[in-house]
Amino acid sequence: MSQSPLAIDGGTPVRTQTLPYGRQSIDEQDIQTVVTALKSDFLTTGPMVGEFEKALALASGAKEAVALANGTAALHTLIACLDIGPGDEVIVPALTFAATANAVAFCGGTPVFAEVRPETLLLDPDDVAKKITKKTRAIMPVDFAGQPADYDRLIPMARDAGVILLTDGCHALGGMFGEKPIGSVTHATAFSMHPVKTITCGEGGAVATDDEKLAHRMRRFRHHGISKDHAERSLSGSWDYDMIELGYNYRLTDFQCALGLSQLGKLEGFTKKRQALAARYDETLTDLEAVRPLEKVPGSSHAYHLYIIRLDLARLTVDRNQAFDALKAEGIGVNVHYRPVHLHPYYQKIWGTKAGDLPVTEQVFEQILTLPLFSSMKESDVDDVVEALRKVTRAYAR
Ligand SMILES: *Cc1c(COP(=O)(O)O)cnc(C)c1O
Repeated sequence: MSQSPLAIDGGTPVRTQTLPYGRQSIDEQDIQTVVTALKSDFLTTGPMVGEFEKALALASGAKEAVALANGTAALHTLIACLDIGPGDEVIVPALTFAATANAVAFCGGTPVFAEVRPETLLLDPDDVAKKITKKTRAIMPVDFAGQPADYDRLIPMARDAGVILLTDGCHALGGMFGEKPIGSVTHATAFSMHPVKTITCGEGGAVATDDEKLAHRMRRFRHHGISKDHAERSLSGSWDYDMIELGYNYRLTDFQCALGLSQLGKLEGFTKKRQALAARYDETLTDLEAVRPLEKVPGSSHAYHLYIIRLDLARLTVDRNQAFDALKAEGIGVNVHYRPVHLHPYYQKIWGTKAGDLPVTEQVFEQILTLPLFSSMKESDVDDVVEALRKVTRAYAR
């Protein structure tokens, strides 16, 4: 079969309209729920906040869920309300969105970067073990791409070291570790409801936990550190209130919570759809020699926020970035998750991190590509992505 020229070289693209890597699914019911909230007496904190929190706690198997302005605010609130600060270390994966580590830095704590396993991009427990010190207060893996971290090893490791195990679950709402929904596996889990995530509030975040004291403190922190008891008293006539600690305005509005509540009702369907599309990628990618999907860990349910492949660069004449450009030209909205956090200028300048610190992470970063995946995608869209990958990897085969 003669090959058609690549779109990047002037050939016809696989798709004329670019397929995005992610997008939200908003239906008429979501819209009506938001309209109802907008017509109510409450624009910001109102009854939908508590309803959303209850539904999210139920979905994540936790006693409490605290709604926050976004996933980054959720991570910040969590770290701050655990009193993690100057002199404290928190071990995080180097391959994550910057906010995972930033949350520790916001509080004056030290983010300590650990390697990920190249086959799964999940935090490597062997490297974590090497990085635990007397100063370690917490370990915070990311359930990367929607797949639960290696909790079989991390749970006993944290317990033996006397440190708190947390989860950046911003990818993983809807996933399960064994029989446990993500949100009930570790001491507390942060979620994001950004539009590319499994469910959306526009912007939104939350922390799920069984620790009721922590939940109480987080609700105060999101409201300037002002004691709610007194706020309630002031509602009943008094103007006075107590600011107990330095908090922020991290509240989520009532209409965003209304959207979140409506979206939560579809979580299971969204997750199943993502899993089915991922299964189609798994099946149809098997004959592409230069393409390796991430490995799945048996026994857990993958929420598939992202579908990530590794390129076998030894089989290609180009690097990941050139393959990325060629796929973009074919109309495929590929992405890269993520540049290792320790390689960002801020971390290099302020924290003294540098290339070479995390060789496994840095090497796998050169190989990764995120393929489009969202719940309203069609199987034929998956087939277009695979066709474009076939076209590009053939043209660039070594
Ligand atoms: C999306 C995301 C965040 C931040 O969430 P926002 O809602 O965008 O602030 C944090 N960590 C990870 C791993 C994420 O994917």
